Amino acid sequence: LGRKLNSALSQFSRVPSVDQEALDALLKEICAALLESDVNVKLVSSLRQKVKAKVKAALDTGADKGREGQRKNIVQKAIFDELVHLVDPGVEPYKPRKGYPNVIMAVGLQGNGKTTTCTKLAVHYQKRGFKSCIVCADTFRAGAFDQTRQSATKAKVAYFGSYTETDPVSIAAQGVEKFKKERFDVIIVDTSGRHKQESELFQEMVQISEAVKPDMTVLVLDASIGQAAEAQSRAFKDSADFGAIIVTKMDGHAKGGGAISAVAATKTPIIFLGVGEHLADLDKFAPQPFISKLLGMGDVQGLMEHMHDVAMANPNKQKEMAKKFEEGKISIRDWREQIQTVMGMGPISKIASMIPGLPQDMLAGSDEEGAHRMKKLLYITDSMTAEELDSDGMLFMELGKDGKPIGLSWRVWRVARGSGTHVRDVEEVLCQYRMMANVAKQAGGKKGWLQAAQKMQ
Ligand code: GDP
Ligand code: MG
Repeated sequence: LGRKLNSALSQFSRVPSVDQEALDALLKEICAALLESDVNVKLVSSLRQKVKAKVKAALDTGADKGREGQRKNIVQKAIFDELVHLVDPGVEPYKPRKGYPNVIMAVGLQGNGKTTTCTKLAVHYQKRGFKSCIVCADTFRAGAFDQTRQSATKAKVAYFGSYTETDPVSIAAQGVEKFKKERFDVIIVDTSGRHKQESELFQEMVQISEAVKPDMTVLVLDASIGQAAEAQSRAFKDSADFGAIIVTKMDGHAKGGGAISAVAATKTPIIFLGVGEHLADLDKFAPQPFISKLLGMGDVQGLMEHMHDVAMANPNKQKEMAKKFEEGKISIRDWREQIQTVMGMGPISKIASMIPGLPQDMLAGSDEEGAHRMKKLLYITDSMTAEELDSDGMLFMELGKDGKPIGLSWRVWRVARGSGTHVRDVEEVLCQYRMMANVAKQAGGKKGWLQAAQKMQ
């Protein structure tokens, strides 16, 4: 989906003039891409109309000032905003508090990934200093408690369940009471599913919900759900009034668009995406960064979060870096260091997609290829002098009399030769650096990235 949207937008950015025809062609491609990934037809057609109306309104007020580039921006912004709107119901999800027994209940049909997600959630919160545990209230499926026991043991989180008790409501109540007494911060209640939506299941959800009074109920949805999402999420909403959605198996070939209908139908935010079978394969979800990333525009927030996790190992270094970010003073050397940190953080393709300014094609192909491109970037910066590394990149520009850049400096040729690359490779790296620095400057200032990163915990 990202690839298709990206290609439609970049094609649009090359059209000589923004007329009705160009806009229609762009919308047609965007809508086709959305439909193909199972986004509900009604949502797609409403997106189309809203974009059209927004563009028209902006042009009517003369916001384009008669300029072609400005007109393109208006269209691109309208599309970006409406895509964000698709995954953003405008509702804040519940945020667990420390020193309070936050009860989280997971619901969803069998096989959607509830049990796996419960453990992932426990690990997520545990890492952030919440004492976390799991209560297995699935008495329907044979072996459910064994599964919880195994994965909780592996994850080193406390768990509760029973081989003999057959009443899920009683187990849930006992478990939650026990863990509350033991002063756990996050108590996750895993429930049973059925193969299909049936009244017994929904009754059970109502009863467990009444017994444990969850602070947040999470609907766990498989990314491959497709058009069934709307009816299924409504049915669960009526019995177990969930306040958050987690979409699992986003790592597979599933199209994921169906889950978006669940967001719209129930006005409930997605809070995490399951992206693999391992315990750490849980990504925080936020509408704007998600769409940015989808369109190859980077995910600064996600990157900061990742960095934060890594930074636990080296807090001083991270503080220093965050300060530079805040002040908008990142040199090429800082940027390079960040990329090196990032490279030690996990699969290149995943991390690279979060870095603003890395073009989408840099992510194309295997992780090996991605790593190769990142390495090239390091070779190029290796060939820079200390003075150049500590600069903001302006050294590489030839400046005119008015102090404005008029071309490339000889330094670019020297670096290209030294690193065995081409001038355009060096130019590209400098361009990426500049985009990164710009984003940092915008995001910095008073708000401060360090604070932002701390708040995210
Ligand atoms: P439950 O019946 O809802 O409790 O589902 P389970 O947690 O038992 O998961 C069903 C299957 O989906 C298991 O094989 C999990 O390993 C797998 N699974 C869950 N989440 C993910 C995910 O995010 N990605 C992938 N690839 N597999 C997942
Ligand atoms: Mg289960």
